[in-house]
Amino acid sequence: MPLSFTHHGAVDGVTGSCHQLTLPDGQSVLIDCGLFQGAETSSDGAGVNQLEIGFALDQVRALIVTHVHIDHVGRIPYLLAAGYKGPIYCSEASALLLPLVLEDALKVGFTRNQALIQRVLGVLRQRIVPLPYKQWQTVIAGVPGLRVRLSPAGHILGSAYVELDVQLGPGQKQRVVFSGDLGAPYTPLLPAPRAPMAADVVVLESTYGDRNHEPRKLRRQRLQALCEHAFGNRGTLLVPAFSIGRTQELLYELEEIIHRHRQRPAAPGLAWGEVEVIVDSPLAADFTAGYAQLKSHWDKEARRKLAAGRHPLAFEQLTTVADHAAHLRMVDALARSARPAIVIAASGMCSGGRIVNYLKAMLGDARHDVLFCGYQAAGTPGRDIQTYGPRGGYVELDGQRFNIRAGVHTLGGFSAHADQKDLLNFIGRMHTQPRQVRLVHGDDDAKRTLAALLRQRHPGVEVVVP
Ligand SMILES: [Zn+2]
Repeated sequence: MPLSFTHHGAVDGVTGSCHQLTLPDGQSVLIDCGLFQGAETSSDGAGVNQLEIGFALDQVRALIVTHVHIDHVGRIPYLLAAGYKGPIYCSEASALLLPLVLEDALKVGFTRNQALIQRVLGVLRQRIVPLPYKQWQTVIAGVPGLRVRLSPAGHILGSAYVELDVQLGPGQKQRVVFSGDLGAPYTPLLPAPRAPMAADVVVLESTYGDRNHEPRKLRRQRLQALCEHAFGNRGTLLVPAFSIGRTQELLYELEEIIHRHRQRPAAPGLAWGEVEVIVDSPLAADFTAGYAQLKSHWDKEARRKLAAGRHPLAFEQLTTVADHAAHLRMVDALARSARPAIVIAASGMCSGGRIVNYLKAMLGDARHDVLFCGYQAAGTPGRDIQTYGPRGGYVELDGQRFNIRAGVHTLGGFSAHADQKDLLNFIGRMHTQPRQVRLVHGDDDAKRTLAALLRQRHPGVEVVVP
């Protein structure tokens, strides 16, 4: 195999995604450059506190971004600081959203110096090259040469899987597909991803390689039931969620519940039409606005709702909390009063962000409930709350112990990730089977289970777990 793969992150876990494809002459491209979260570390020793780029950049010709989640793009500022001078290819929607994400990441994790942030963003904007879906773009001309094409991945708005055509010699071509994070077929707002036609090698994510999700209708019913349970206790339902993708999906489903049950009780004395939904995150609010601006990328169902005069991401029961003082007032008011509400706040794994203040104030009170609807990586407070909360345990937040008396629930189907069946379909529906599938971005069990199933169904395909 004249091409070589280096997986700098998202090998033993699901964060810090950064893959490198190197051509025989040493030139290479990077796919994603993400931040590590929780206890996860990379094979080259970079960990949660290690932001440096631990590999040489002089031969790196391009960075290709699959989508703007922080575990796929968070180290881009460090890549620029390390001297990377090449283009950053991404989809048109990602090109709009990427500066928002990195601005927030820099504020939270790096500096409050606005001039410095603006300088980094200025460099970033110069390097971004938006690519329309389904269009080939030459990245490295000549032989060996390389072209890239992006296709919708259905994971979050702007997400793409990446096809790379490598020209190795006259008539000698290899196609490599990097899946990035793939979405489930019924992700609200987004059209379902379609499998690529053919590839020699597929680098496939495997986050949910060992699980299948609940059908969408069931999970909406469970979401409704959990809300009604929380309101019945006169408590708040706290939903830690990533600002990008999950928050908009949740809002979309909540709007549907409110729309259908407007006149019916959500709790004694409270109609669904009166339920308060609070998005407490400036980034989530910016993103929701970004999503609203990119309506042309929405799926048919969402556009039908718009045509019927509904506002799936901006309904009247929705409140957004902008500044920090208002946030602190909201935490205090909800913790003290018995005012039923749904609060959606980042971070999705409770490792920072405004959700932490809510958890500190409310975890000890049995009236409240916490609802996880996304993957919780090992070592994050989210995983600890999920594991120890139901047993009456505690969690450490900012070095302090908090006992958990609030209800703790998990709603599996809300993942914006493809499940086992969808991952198998991504390979199974290709017209020409790949020679090799490399599994990344998953826990050991997920990768092992998925590898076994792929080997069983496609005996001719070599399945590699790097
Ligand atoms: Zn993602």
